[in-house]
Amino acid sequence: MDNEDLIVLALAVVARDLSLAKKMAHFAHDGVLEEGEMQEKLKLPSAELRQLLYRMQDSNLVVQLGTKEDESGNRLTYWRINKDIAESFLIRRIKNVLDILRKRRKEESSGEYYVCAADPTHVRLSFDEVIAKMGESRGLVCPVCGALLEPVNKEKVLEDLDRMIEILERALGVLEGEAG
Ligand SMILES: [Zn+2]
Repeated sequence: MDNEDLIVLALAVVARDLSLAKKMAHFAHDGVLEEGEMQEKLKLPSAELRQLLYRMQDSNLVVQLGTKEDESGNRLTYWRINKDIAESFLIRRIKNVLDILRKRRKEESSGEYYVCAADPTHVRLSFDEVIAKMGESRGLVCPVCGALLEPVNKEKVLEDLDRMIEILERALGVLEGEAG
C-alpha cells in the first residue's frame, strides 16, 4: 500500500465514508484543500464539512493552515492533509478494534447469550441476565419489540469473529511490516 492509499483509508475511517475520503484526497492540491472549494466539490453543507475537518484534525490527519481573503473579500480557509500520520493512525485504530474483538471472542466463547428472535440488534442478554429476568412479569421477551428471546448460535458468531480478527491481523502485519 502506498501513502496515498493509507491516507485515504485513514480519512475514510474518520468520515465513515470511503468515497468521500477519496474525493477529499483527489481534490486537494498537493495535499492542501480550501474549505469553500471542497464544500462545492463534495456537495456538503459547510457546517458538516467543518465538523468533519475538526474530527480529522483531532486525529492530526488534517491541520488547519489559516485563512486569507480573496480579491472579492471572500474568506478562504486552508487545510493540509497530513499523510505522514496515516500509517500510525491506522495501526492504532486496528489495534483498538482487535482488542475489542478478542475480548468479545473470549466473552462469547465462555458464556451463553440470548438475543431477540426477530432482530438480534434489539437486545443481547447473558445467561445470568436471562435468569434474573425470569422473575419479572414481562418475562423473556424483547424489550424493544416483544418477540421471544433465543440463544445465540455461538459457532456462527465465533466463526465471524475469527474471520474479522484474521483479516485485521493480516492488515496490521502489512502496516507494521512497512513501518519497521
Ligand atoms: Zn426485538
